[in-house]
Amino acid sequence: FIGAGGLVSVIIAVLAGYFLASRAFVPIQKAWEQQQQFVSDASHELRTPLSVLRIHLEQMFRHPERTVEQESRKISVMLDETQRLGKLVDDLLTLARKDSSQMELLKTRVNLHDILQSVVHGFQDMARLKGIELTADLEPHAEIQGDADRLHQLFVIVMDNALKYTKQGEIKVWLKTDGAAAQIEIADTGIGIAEEDLPRIFDRFFRADKVRNRKEGGSGLGLSIAKWIIEAHEGSVYVESVPERGTVFRISLPGGKTP
Ligand code: ADP
Repeated sequence: FIGAGGLVSVIIAVLAGYFLASRAFVPIQKAWEQQQQFVSDASHELRTPLSVLRIHLEQMFRHPERTVEQESRKISVMLDETQRLGKLVDDLLTLARKDSSQMELLKTRVNLHDILQSVVHGFQDMARLKGIELTADLEPHAEIQGDADRLHQLFVIVMDNALKYTKQGEIKVWLKTDGAAAQIEIADTGIGIAEEDLPRIFDRFFRADKVRNRKEGGSGLGLSIAKWIIEAHEGSVYVESVPERGTVFRISLPGGKTP
């Protein structure tokens, strides 16, 4: 038996409990919705290259008389699509592992000069082929505590974009240390990013409208991986861009000093 006062207290307690519980569930609900969105976006992205492959294979199957030479264009498209699929699956795996905290960083003393040098080296041929001048001004001993493989991946993502979204001109890579941090700049003279798109370029699957249908465009996952790698090194990134003029990515990674 409880009196009217007791009943009011019980109702208040139940309401308060419900209120607190619903508040506690909001982040879980949000995380769940984000996860659902991720799965749905990922499936959509996987479907596109798969349907290109299917259509081309069906056409080839219908014309067995055609030679490999005659079908070389289709084969080349299919090879591009399989490459795209492979990259997409790798990126999805990286993000899924990161989300489930299975991606441990292996931090050691690393020299950013060597990492950037090897990334620049890897892109030299492609730049030359596109007629783009790729230059690097790298301080020789910029050491930080970091994961060498992940940092390599970070610079590949930003460099790959610089090259993808630049038709002519130059790409400059710059590395300096200033006491507590290493500063890296990757600047291109490419298509640039519209002001309204700038806050969204690090979102998963985001692609600016004008690159959405370009052949060289990726899945929009690269920069979300780049952002995670920078944050996992307690660093920061700042992007400046002028449409049709170019883009500069400024990355700051703490712990940089010249020994
Ligand atoms: P994507 O795989 O499409 O390159 P990212 O996540 O790496 O995806 O980049 C997201 C979007 O940011 C790109 O689709 C493009 O619109 C824009 N972007 C990134 N880097 C550059 C750049 N250097 N110049 C112009 N646009 C860029």
